[in-house]
Amino acid sequence: GLILAVETSCDETSVAVVENGTIIRSNVVSSQIDTHKRYGGVVPEIASRQHVESVTLILEEAVQAAGIRLADLSAVAVTQGPGLVGSLLVGVVAAKTLACALQIPLIGVHHIAGHIYANELVHQLEYPLVSLVVSGGHTELVHVPSPGVFRIIGQTRDDAAGEAYDKVARAMGLPYPGGPHVDRLAHEADEGVPLPRVWLEPDSYDFSFSGLKSAVLAVLNQAKMRGEVVQPMRISKGFQDSVVEVLVEKAIRASKAFGAKQLMLAGGVAANKGLREALADRCAREELPLLVPPLSLCTDNAAMIAAAAFLKWERGELSSLDLKAEALLSLEQWSVKEPAEHAGR
Ligand code: ATP
Ligand code: MG
Ligand code: FE
Repeated sequence: GLILAVETSCDETSVAVVENGTIIRSNVVSSQIDTHKRYGGVVPEIASRQHVESVTLILEEAVQAAGIRLADLSAVAVTQGPGLVGSLLVGVVAAKTLACALQIPLIGVHHIAGHIYANELVHQLEYPLVSLVVSGGHTELVHVPSPGVFRIIGQTRDDAAGEAYDKVARAMGLPYPGGPHVDRLAHEADEGVPLPRVWLEPDSYDFSFSGLKSAVLAVLNQAKMRGEVVQPMRISKGFQDSVVEVLVEKAIRASKAFGAKQLMLAGGVAANKGLREALADRCAREELPLLVPPLSLCTDNAAMIAAAAFLKWERGELSSLDLKAEALLSLEQWSVKEPAEHAGR
């Protein structure tokens, strides 16, 4: 099965061609970061307009780079949600048009299922597994008992990890998106400012990052009032240490509780060096295999959407042409209907 996928959920326009859910033939990503940078965040209106301008070009580029003809395609996949509805809509319309013109199936994909299945493009998955999803809009621990089945066992009660990174970065005057800057600065400090760890109830797999963000703002304000300067690298290290410690601890505990054969990292914050190092360290000690996607597959891209779409395609679970973009789409409900292995075409 040769699947072409379109991803436009936020500020990356991306089209990819993937064979059998695992072999990337092309994966073209056009980021709008430079446009949104001057506003300090993604401006939805501008994002959707830019998707409109670039989606056709990116599509042609992806088909060319894959060295295929449109007639070779088995299906067209598209991110259906969650995300910015105006942005999602552009991808959905493009995908429907293509599926309709080529008379091939359409598959709506959950964006977070895509982030999780980015791992399948580079790793051999073994079930059951647990995925730690950390991105700009999500922080979730997901139990995946079998291919394409998602059960959320914990999630953030306020800010997502990436969101907290971006807000803390912004408070320190760093450019958008701030995550990578905070990550870099954290590695330059020997010692971080002391900040709290938010564990919530002892048995909870949920997360909370807004209190930590407030603690950072308080440190910055107090220093300012005293006319002192706190080095951004000391704040960055204190913040990163706190976030990483809680993420790692809960991910390990969940993996044990659900008998995971593998722990899988997913989402844009999976690019974080501190998190990757701490998880690798801890998983080695626990003898738990850790799967991490390469940096290019951590942030938004269409190859991961094609990988997730393959789960549905091989089971014949297709979408109809009246598929709608949904800003809030449930991951659990997107699970495959036929969890068993009889899938395969
Ligand atoms: P979602 O996937 O939840 O819809 P999104 O698609 O906007 O949200 P991603 O593209 O998956 O999010 O990830 C972007 C986020 O990842 C941003 O918040 C960015 O700051 C963060 N990020 C990227 N690299 C790093 C890093 N090295 N350290 C920390 N955060 C990072
Ligand atoms: Mg993005
Ligand atoms: Fe994303």
